[in-house]
Amino acid sequence: MSNLIELKVPDIGGHSNVDIIEVFVKAGDVVAVEDSLITLETDKATMEVPASHAGKIVELKVAVGGKISEGDVIAIVEAVGAAAEAPKAAPAPAAAAPQAAAPVAAPQAASHAGGADIECDVLVLGAGPGGYSAAFRAADLGLNVVLVERYATLGGVCLNVGCIPSKALLHNAAVIDEVKHLAANGIKFAEPEIDIDMLRGYKEKVIGKLTGGLAGMAKARKVQVVRGVGSFLDPHHLQVDTTEGAGQAKTGAKQTIKFKNAIIAAGSRVVNLPFIPQDPRIVDSTGALELKAVPKKMLIIGGGIIGLEMGTVYSTLGARLDVVEMLDGLMQGADRDLVKVWEKMNAHRFDNIMTSTKTVAVEAKEDGIYVTFEGAKAPAEPQRYDLVLVAAGRAPNGKLIAAENAGVAVTDRGFIEVDKQQRTNVPHIYAIGDIVGQPMLAHKAVHEAHVAAENCAGGKSYFDARVIPGVAYTDPEVAWVGVTEEIAKRDGIKIEKSVFPWAASGRAIANGRDEGFTKLIFDAETHQVIGGAIVGTHAGDMLGEICLAIEMGCDATDIGKTIHAHPTLGESIGMAAEVAHGTCTDLPPQRKK
Ligand code: FAD
Repeated sequence: MSNLIELKVPDIGGHSNVDIIEVFVKAGDVVAVEDSLITLETDKATMEVPASHAGKIVELKVAVGGKISEGDVIAIVEAVGAAAEAPKAAPAPAAAAPQAAAPVAAPQAASHAGGADIECDVLVLGAGPGGYSAAFRAADLGLNVVLVERYATLGGVCLNVGCIPSKALLHNAAVIDEVKHLAANGIKFAEPEIDIDMLRGYKEKVIGKLTGGLAGMAKARKVQVVRGVGSFLDPHHLQVDTTEGAGQAKTGAKQTIKFKNAIIAAGSRVVNLPFIPQDPRIVDSTGALELKAVPKKMLIIGGGIIGLEMGTVYSTLGARLDVVEMLDGLMQGADRDLVKVWEKMNAHRFDNIMTSTKTVAVEAKEDGIYVTFEGAKAPAEPQRYDLVLVAAGRAPNGKLIAAENAGVAVTDRGFIEVDKQQRTNVPHIYAIGDIVGQPMLAHKAVHEAHVAAENCAGGKSYFDARVIPGVAYTDPEVAWVGVTEEIAKRDGIKIEKSVFPWAASGRAIANGRDEGFTKLIFDAETHQVIGGAIVGTHAGDMLGEICLAIEMGCDATDIGKTIHAHPTLGESIGMAAEVAHGTCTDLPPQRKK
C-alpha cells in the first residue's frame, strides 16, 4: 500500500513570496519527519522548513531562486508502510546544526570560460575571525591575497554582531551588578540611570575601533579587500557581485577573481523557527544586540550561551526573563555542577526556566507576543512577552556560495568537510571556521585559519589542537575545556578529579564572590590533566592555563608546583592540582583515599 502526501509550507509567520535559498532534497530521496526540506530567506531571517510527513519524494516542486508562500506545496512524497508513521521521538530544533554528516559525494566542477579582473595566490571568502586571520597569515607568508566580504566592515559575526558587541554590553551589565553587591559592604550607590542610546553608542564605538583596526591591518599587509557577495564559478574563479551601503545591497557590478588557492570562511547565520511571525518584538541575537529598548518581560528561546549572555544584559537593565529549552538543562556541554552555581546566582533574573519544553506556537498581538509551549515545564496557557529572543542555533553558509561549481562537496546541512590540513575534497581549496563544523567559536576559526594559510604557502600544517575551550561570559562565568565529567561517563574514560572550592580562596572572598570552584580532570592511568572547568568571576580569562596544561601533557605535579601569585583567582588552579595530590594546605585535611 502506498499513498501520496503533499509536503506544504507551514505557518511562516505571515510572510509570502519568500525566497528559497536552499533545497536540501531531490526526487527519489527518502525523508523523515522533521528533516529539513528547504531554507527560506526573508529580509530579517532565514528559516528551515521541515518535512511534516515521512516518505520518498516522488516530485519536487521547488528550486533555489524560486519564491514560496504559506500553504504552497514543496514536494509530494509517497508514504510507504513504516515510512508514513509518526514523528521521531525527539526532533532536534530546526536551528541546531549538527556536525558534518557522512561523507558527501563530490559534485562535478564547472568550467569558467571568461577572463578575470583580479588574480591572486590566495582568495579568502568571508572576513570573519577565520577569514581575516587566514588572509593576514597568508600575506605575512608573502602571498598575494584577496579578501572578499559582502558587508562594509571586516570582522564577520564575531566583531560586528557576536562576541565583541555582546561582551561590550555584558561588561556594562557586570559593573551595574557589581556595584549593587557593594551595598552589602556599606557602599551604596543610587539606582543607575541608563541612557540606552549612549550604551548602544558605546557598543558601536567598540565595534568601530576593532573593525577599523582590521581595515588598517589589511591595508598594511597589502591584502586587497573586495566588497561583494562571492560565488564560485569553477575551481579557480570566484565571481563577486559588488555590494554597497550598510547591508548587502547589490550594485549590479560584477568582478571575477582568479585564484591559485582559496580559503572558504563564509561562516554561519542565524536560523529562525518556521512558525515564528515577523514582528519587531521578535529578534535574533543580532536584533537583541541592537538594544532598541528594554522590555518588561522577555522570553529567550534556547538556553545556550548566546541566549543566556543576552538575557544577562537585558535582565540587568531591568527585564524579567523566561527561558525555554528543549533539552533537559541549560548551557549544554558544561558539567551540571558548574551550571548549578550559575543557576543559583541567577535565579533572581528568571520567572520561569522551562527545560525539556518546546515552543510550539508564537502569535503577535497588539499587547504582546503570545507563546505556547509543550513539554515538562510548559505553562497551561500561552504566555505574553514584550520581547522574544530566538537563540536556537546557527546554520553554516556552505550552500550559499555555489561551492558545487568549484567541485567542493557540501553536506546536506551546509557544512564543508575538511581534513586535518583544512583541505576540502578539492586539494587547493580550504575551508575554516563555522562553515566546517562545531564548535562554532571564533578561536577555533582563527586556529584553523592559520593552518589553512600556512598550507597555501606550501607548509605542512595540521589542526592538531587537543582541546577547544568553551566559555559562557555570564555572571558568574562558566568555562570548560577538554574532557568533562559528562564526557568521561559517556565515553567510559577513567578519570580522577580534583576540585578547589573558592570558599577557600582568599582573593574570591576578598572580592565578595566565593561561590565558584575550579575543577581539574586527570586521566586515571597517565595522571595527565585532560580536562578542567571553572565557574566564577573571570573564569574565562583563567581557563587558558588549563588549556596549556592539557596541550603540554602536564600532570598534577607540574601544575601544583608552578608558583601562582597570591592572592589571585588563578591560584585556584594550582590548588586544585594540590588537591589531586591529596594535600592542599589551604583546605582542611583530605580523607586518605
Ligand atoms: P563569520 O564570523 O560568520 O564570518 C563569515 C563572514 O563571511 C561574514 O562576514 C559574512 O558576511 C561573510 N560571507 C559569507 N558568505 C559570503 C559570500 N558569499 N560573499 C562574501 N562574504 C560572505 N564565539 C566565541 O568564540 N566567543 C564568543 O564569545 C562568541 N560570542 C558570540 C555571540 C553571539 C551573539 C554570536 C552570534 C556568536 C558568538 N560567537 C562567539 C561565535 C563566533 O561569532 C563565530 O564562531 C565566529 O564569528 C565564526 O567565524 P567565521 O570566520 O567562521 O565566520
